[in-house]
Amino acid sequence: MQQSVISKLKSIVGKEDILTSKISREVYSYDSSPFIFEPDVVLFPESLEEVVEILQIAEKDAVPVVPRGAGTCLSGGAVPLNGGISLVLTKMTKILEVDTVNETALVEAGVPNLTLQKELQPVGFMFAPDPASQKVATIGGNVAECAGGIKGVKYGVTKDHVLGLEIVLAGGTVIHTGALAPAERFTPDLTGIFSGSEGTFGVITKCLVKLTKNPEAVRTMMAVFGSLDQAGEAVSTIIARGIIPTTLEIMDKNQLRAVDDFLHLGFPREAEAVLLLEVDGYEVEIDRQVDTISGIFQEKQASSVQRARDDAEREKLWLARRSGNGALGRIKPAYMVQDVTVPRHKLPEMLRFVSEMSNKYNIIITQMAHAGDGNLHPHLLYEPNDTEEYERVEKASREIFQKAIDMEGTLTGEHGIGLEKLPFMKMQFTQADLNFMEKVKRALDPNLSLNRGKVLEL
Ligand SMILES: Cc1cc2nc3c(=O)[nH]c(=O)nc-3n(C[C@H](O)[C@H](O)[C@H](O)COP(=O)(O)OP(=O)(O)OC[C@H]3O[C@@H](n4cnc5c(N)ncnc54)[C@H](O)[C@@H]3O)c2cc1C
Repeated sequence: MQQSVISKLKSIVGKEDILTSKISREVYSYDSSPFIFEPDVVLFPESLEEVVEILQIAEKDAVPVVPRGAGTCLSGGAVPLNGGISLVLTKMTKILEVDTVNETALVEAGVPNLTLQKELQPVGFMFAPDPASQKVATIGGNVAECAGGIKGVKYGVTKDHVLGLEIVLAGGTVIHTGALAPAERFTPDLTGIFSGSEGTFGVITKCLVKLTKNPEAVRTMMAVFGSLDQAGEAVSTIIARGIIPTTLEIMDKNQLRAVDDFLHLGFPREAEAVLLLEVDGYEVEIDRQVDTISGIFQEKQASSVQRARDDAEREKLWLARRSGNGALGRIKPAYMVQDVTVPRHKLPEMLRFVSEMSNKYNIIITQMAHAGDGNLHPHLLYEPNDTEEYERVEKASREIFQKAIDMEGTLTGEHGIGLEKLPFMKMQFTQADLNFMEKVKRALDPNLSLNRGKVLEL
């Protein structure tokens, strides 16, 4: 990038909010995926006006821009594939309004998800999307990826909780969508277009989000099964009997052993699957739901069922799930995590298929899944320096993608397409679908300056 352009950018954000040294650029060449591409410059705008001016200069000087939140993207969406500007929103962190009457919050895009949750907790509300990365992942990043979380089965994903957005388009034009636009009722769902757009349509600067009342009562349970099929049938039966759990997670035996070797929680070594389940609702009716679920677990021959009696026990049950990723580091230093989805009743078949890939390609695969919404998270473990092993991981991933599509599922439930799944878009979408997506991209960003090369091959 020309020095004159860097000087102009520096005059916009000030010397505190620009990084150009080699080491800083290296830091921002990563997200949480295996991809690495260095930006020419890293900028931390602190206001809408600064974002506008940056995008004006970027357009004029043909500089690529990649919006970025906390960089927790698992599919390569936040790495600067074509160099240029890494536009980091993490200094735009104002919670501008919490309106408990209308049940909304207006926040700047760089507010970390957990910061918003902590602000809402004392007034009796939550922001329902709760990705496991919530400690750092930003609300803007959540919207751009349409993030989910463990409560997705009951409360949905981020797009279900966004009411309006403030966005800066390529070139610097500011637009407002949804409830932030004056004539909201008469517009198409423009907010929807930006949810899950992975930084390719515009830079999100403000989000008006919907709040959800904290439930009166919560119950947590764990059931151990001797087969994946029994666990899978329990999942389908619970939902078929009209119970929508807040959370319904499954872990397979590889994952359980990894966690147990790490935390010594005493899981039976012969267990093939564990279901971790939470229901919420009103105190008067919640124990009835728990009894029904216990009955289903027994019907499906769970070898043990535990109910958390208090918050400490609840925390203990959750520890196994939350420590899932960390436990894997003891086995191999790196993993690729996939997040294909399949119809819920096909989950056991898909879990079995993934296990077969582990044998076929001689790699370790552990499995966790948001069972309630058929969203698998197989972790394919590898040594970063072993290129041959990494190739086997890629081949296994490809088969997993193909199988999910063949089972009428999707490439991604919540982690996005980014760079990682780009080569597989043709598996899922027709050429007409892809052409239409390209038309939308070109209409919003004619010079393809925003996050080019992600989601669509352009
Ligand atoms: C340990 C771990 C656990 C995770 N758990 C979950 C989970 O449970 N559920 C889930 O859905 N995901 C999960 N993720 C993935 C990730 O955390 C989410 O996608 C999250 O929403 C990304 O937020 P971020 O602020 O880190 O965005 P980044 O990673 O910085 O960016 C993600 C994408 O959004 C774009 N973007 C970011 N901010 C903006 C903005 N303001 N305007 C326009 N585009 C923008 C970027 O260009 C990029 O394409 C996890 C990741 C990790 C590392």
